[in-house]
Amino acid sequence: MAAEAASALGLSMAVLAEKPDDAACATAAEVLLGSPLVEEHLRALAARVGVVTFDHEQVDLAVLGALDADGVVIRPGLRTLEMAVDKSRMRAVLADAGIPVPAHLIVPAGPRGAASPAADEIAQFAAAHGWPLVLKAARGGYDGKGVWPVGDMAEAASVVAPLTGTLLVEEMVALDAELAVMVARRPSGETVTWPATETAQVGGVCREVLVPGRLSPEMLDRARAMGERVAEIVDAVGVLAVELFWSGGVLMVNEIAARPHNSGHWTIEGAVTSQFENHLRAVLDLPLGPATPQHAQVASVNVFGGPAGQDPRALLGRGLAVPGAHVHLYGKEARPGRKLGHVTVCGDDAADVRERAWGAALALGTPRPEGLSLPRGVA
Ligand code: ADP
Repeated sequence: MAAEAASALGLSMAVLAEKPDDAACATAAEVLLGSPLVEEHLRALAARVGVVTFDHEQVDLAVLGALDADGVVIRPGLRTLEMAVDKSRMRAVLADAGIPVPAHLIVPAGPRGAASPAADEIAQFAAAHGWPLVLKAARGGYDGKGVWPVGDMAEAASVVAPLTGTLLVEEMVALDAELAVMVARRPSGETVTWPATETAQVGGVCREVLVPGRLSPEMLDRARAMGERVAEIVDAVGVLAVELFWSGGVLMVNEIAARPHNSGHWTIEGAVTSQFENHLRAVLDLPLGPATPQHAQVASVNVFGGPAGQDPRALLGRGLAVPGAHVHLYGKEARPGRKLGHVTVCGDDAADVRERAWGAALALGTPRPEGLSLPRGVA
């Protein structure tokens, strides 16, 4: 999607992809095959481009540091990436800066048994905050992978036992809503912020994004202010997604992603400038476009592979038959439960756009999510 935005601006995007069938290869102007963890491969990419930027966090900071030292322009910069790749560092920096965050503990993980120091510390934390807790691997997680809700010490011990590295232990927050706010920031600090969205996760995976969802004007203001403060603290350049929890009147930051994000896909049709275009503008230090929404209501619903691995491309006609459905399929191989695309619908009525977006996502083979109540027309 970033490559589509690049093409419109006459920019040429080169992508470092692990496999020729990675989704970005279909749209990027140039493809280099290789691993973002291998210095030689990253140097080959850096030699082709003016600015190196990212669409995931599975990077090696030492390798990037070596490139940075040699003058390669990396945006966002190393300080931001250190937080983006490590949830414990991200959490510590935000807590130190006075940003409200869930109660937490940072401990080295195993491999250890129930009698390990980590287990003792987890038990003490649980005594203070109560079960259940949420355990998170500091590095390498995404889409709920590396996040484990645990109900008691035995469960916690079995999660911790095979882990290495650092573990983030947190209270289970009683969520009234989850929000995300996207901020685009230039190296000078110039910032534009899209209106906050309400997101719904099932099993740690984002299923829908509603703009503005149930968010009141006051909450939208608070979320915007929080997002902009966080962008300054982490010295973001490019797009920053700030994921927020709303609980008992308190707004707290769960995590950040220093790149375009699923909760900003709605901006392609729903805002004057998309997150992808503004990410490119920001990392290239070009003037940012307005983040103003173009519609009163926007719903964006993710498309997943069905239980039999149905390919949504084979169902495209059914999805497109839903009035106003903007269908984006990423060209990935269809597998059960794999995120394969999204559908956005814009309009004036919250219930109507949500119903049409879900109608199209289901028509494309997306399984019905457990634990999320669907709009009446498709339920
Ligand atoms: P990921 O990096 O996989 O996106 P997150 O930290 O965002 O991991 O967690 C995924 C989802 O799990 C969140 O969107 C939220 O629904 C739930 N979750 C994570 N941490 C907590 C918590 N402390 N309390 C309640 N729910 C949580």
